[in-house]
Amino acid sequence: MKKLIALLLVICTLLSVTSCGNKLFLATGSETGTYYAFGIAFTQVLKDKCGLEFTVQSTGASKANIQLIDSGDVDLAIVQNDVMDYAYNGTNTFAADGAITSFAAICTMYPEVVQIVASSNIKSVADLKGKKVSVGDVGSGTEFNAAQIFEAYGMTFDDIQKQNLSFTDSADKYKDGQLDAFFVTAGAPTVAITELATASDFTILSIGEKELSYLQENYGFYTRFDMTAGTYANVKKDVTTVAVSATLICDVNLDDQTVYDITKGIFENIDAITAAHGKGAELSAEKAVQGISTPMHPGATKYFSELGLIAVG
Ligand code: GLU
Repeated sequence: MKKLIALLLVICTLLSVTSCGNKLFLATGSETGTYYAFGIAFTQVLKDKCGLEFTVQSTGASKANIQLIDSGDVDLAIVQNDVMDYAYNGTNTFAADGAITSFAAICTMYPEVVQIVASSNIKSVADLKGKKVSVGDVGSGTEFNAAQIFEAYGMTFDDIQKQNLSFTDSADKYKDGQLDAFFVTAGAPTVAITELATASDFTILSIGEKELSYLQENYGFYTRFDMTAGTYANVKKDVTTVAVSATLICDVNLDDQTVYDITKGIFENIDAITAAHGKGAELSAEKAVQGISTPMHPGATKYFSELGLIAVG
């Protein structure tokens, strides 16, 4: 009997290495962000169409997600493409923590818009001086963007009363008058802000032309993003801001066949994913290979090279 149990344990371990028949863990972000809802949507489609099973986890987002892959707690994660580059190259806050190279990229998915939600009397990022501002959760990618935007305005976190809150907590505290502004880097419209629009008055700050140029010159991952009026019911003007890319990454040791199946499953089922979540409409295999500066997983490379989108190495 003991031998049988030992044998079963060995089989289970082998199965978990190849992930066949096992649940894959996907790290996302705050429950009112876009990673979480989109993560639930595309993994449900992968389950229905490809028989892959997932557990979707709410987390602190990008930086925390890369650390969760590194510690072996999750198999896959959605992260910002800028943060993934800092991690791999050991720059920015990863300079102190150390580079993390235990992940591989699969594909970019949709633009993530840097949205600065502020009370209507605040007209510019410069007006945030001395104000209570949430710059994103501990371990978020949002915090990187907030720091760089303040830098573009000649400011630092020392100029504000900084708080590290999830999107959910930021929106709740804003509603209760305990915050003057909060940063959200996420696919728009973002649930936390949409929900707030029904309860509170706010504006979304534009980034000035000079500061936009500074950001693009100094941090190559930013693209200009014009968010149209009406993205949120009470935002009546277009907002000029920047965007980065939501990127699906995985443990570098996840087996090639599983990663191939995930990649193919996503890009061959765009309609079903779009029916489950609006961001699906922004998926495109051509765009998915752009904006990735760190090594791509061989399972993903195989799929995109079959489509002729990348050269086989
Ligand atoms: N990009 C965000 C971050 O890493 C999370 C976005 C989301 O949860 O949709 O901070």
